[in-house]
Amino acid sequence: MSRWLWWVRRDLRLEDNAALSAAAGSGEVIPVYIHSDTETGGLHAPSATGSASDWWLHHSLASLDNQLRSQGSRLVIRRGEYPTALTQLLRETKADGVRWNRIVEPAQVGIDQIVSATLQESGFAAHSSEGALLHEPTIHLTKANTGYKVFTPFWKALRRQDPPDEPLPAPAITSPATWPSSEALASLNLLPTSSWTDGLQEQWTPGEEGAHTRLQRFTDSVTAYDDKRDLPDVEGTSSISPHLHFGEISARQAWWWGLRAAGSKAEPWLRQLAWREFAHHVLWHHPTMIDTPLRPEFERFAWEPNPRLLRRWQVGRTGYPIVDAGMRQLWETGWMHNRVRMIVASFLVKDLLQPWQGGAAWFWDTLVDADLANNTMGWQWTAGCGVDAAPFFRIFNPVTQGRRFDPAGGYVRRWVPEVSGLADRWVHEPWNAPAVERAEAGISDTYPAPIVDHKQARQRALSAYQQIKSTCPS
Ligand SMILES: Cc1cc2nc3c(=O)[nH]c(=O)nc-3n(C[C@H](O)[C@H](O)[C@H](O)COP(=O)(O)OP(=O)(O)OC[C@H]3O[C@@H](n4cnc5c(N)ncnc54)[C@H](O)[C@@H]3O)c2cc1C
Repeated sequence: MSRWLWWVRRDLRLEDNAALSAAAGSGEVIPVYIHSDTETGGLHAPSATGSASDWWLHHSLASLDNQLRSQGSRLVIRRGEYPTALTQLLRETKADGVRWNRIVEPAQVGIDQIVSATLQESGFAAHSSEGALLHEPTIHLTKANTGYKVFTPFWKALRRQDPPDEPLPAPAITSPATWPSSEALASLNLLPTSSWTDGLQEQWTPGEEGAHTRLQRFTDSVTAYDDKRDLPDVEGTSSISPHLHFGEISARQAWWWGLRAAGSKAEPWLRQLAWREFAHHVLWHHPTMIDTPLRPEFERFAWEPNPRLLRRWQVGRTGYPIVDAGMRQLWETGWMHNRVRMIVASFLVKDLLQPWQGGAAWFWDTLVDADLANNTMGWQWTAGCGVDAAPFFRIFNPVTQGRRFDPAGGYVRRWVPEVSGLADRWVHEPWNAPAVERAEAGISDTYPAPIVDHKQARQRALSAYQQIKSTCPS
């Protein structure tokens, strides 16, 4: 009988796990998670996960270990560089090789190549599978044989394809008679020393079971998704993004669950899942996009980096309630509603003229669903410099966006209690409320005046855009 290491990466689940099923189908399985502190390569290097993601990862690894132990297996944790740690473990356990699921991020693709080469040179088998997406990122190509840059044709191509493979069941796992040593999970120091994660604890249950529960909770809402998905005050979306990011549920499972729960009525939600697929497809074809604008003229954009403005935005003290509500929801829960992500991102890059990379870095550190492909695409899209982007000149007005998508002000009242006493009419523009109403609501001393005047900021942003447009018409 052969023996395999299942190298656990961002596939923290037992169901629909191609690498695990292949390993379990052909022999004994030793699940191993390698924690690398030495891999470098900038903000998005594999070891540079954000603080909220680290919190999630800790709990998700603990949950996976529990699941494995209920089947007589366990998660072996090792520290070190991936090729060295895996080769060492292969020698210790006399295993035949390693199986893992791929991740399309540039740093991870590089690691895959090094690991495969090192293992093969040492005489071990190395097999990787697609485990994060609906399809391989290379199968949808334009007539010119290039990757797609616009979502709608990508979506049509995806729908023309055969549907994604049906999810695999969790396999029965055969364990070795003896186990190699393991580091303690706590020794990875993934949990923060301060108590800022209390809000995350209340909101989320990392792990495969938590992912299934979250999806089940969304079952009744999936048919109403199109009507409610833009309203941050209601639970109109699934909130499965962190579970998908950590692979506690696969994209294929989500896809088939949506279809089975609602048939053709699930189409708007499936389309949204396809945005995730699109983001990974684009990242695969344009790996430099993580810090370089896809539209090159934006490299000359006259951003005005200002740490004070960035900080006011981060802590939710811009004076625009819908922006501040989003930033506070993010800090408290590690998540933000998609509509509000677009509003706060637009405000940072257009009203405050701060480089989108600064916003992406803050999201990276604070989101529990921080995902290189989705985050980069979201920021480049909002800044107007990405593929299929919202044009730069389309600048969200935070007051009208607030009125349209949070008409009764429930969302801003929840996250910005300073304005909660104001009438609906003023709740999105407290500075315009009559003095007597402001005094009655008690906001005068506690809530800041708007950090910029939106009308002026808009003009400033449009002039900056005009400059790059005139120097490079494209
Ligand atoms: C500036 C900005 C930054 C973002 N950063 C991230 C990020 O780091 N991680 C992340 O997962 N999403 C990111 N998004 C996309 C989107 O906001 C979240 O995926 C969504 O809010 C997650 O909520 P949900 O699970 O309830 O989504 P649902 O509406 O229930 O959708 C289901 C799933 O589809 C995918 N999805 C939905 N919308 C998008 C989208 N616009 N782009 C890509 N995938 C999508 C997600 O995986 C999501 O979980 C970002 C968007 C913007 C505008």
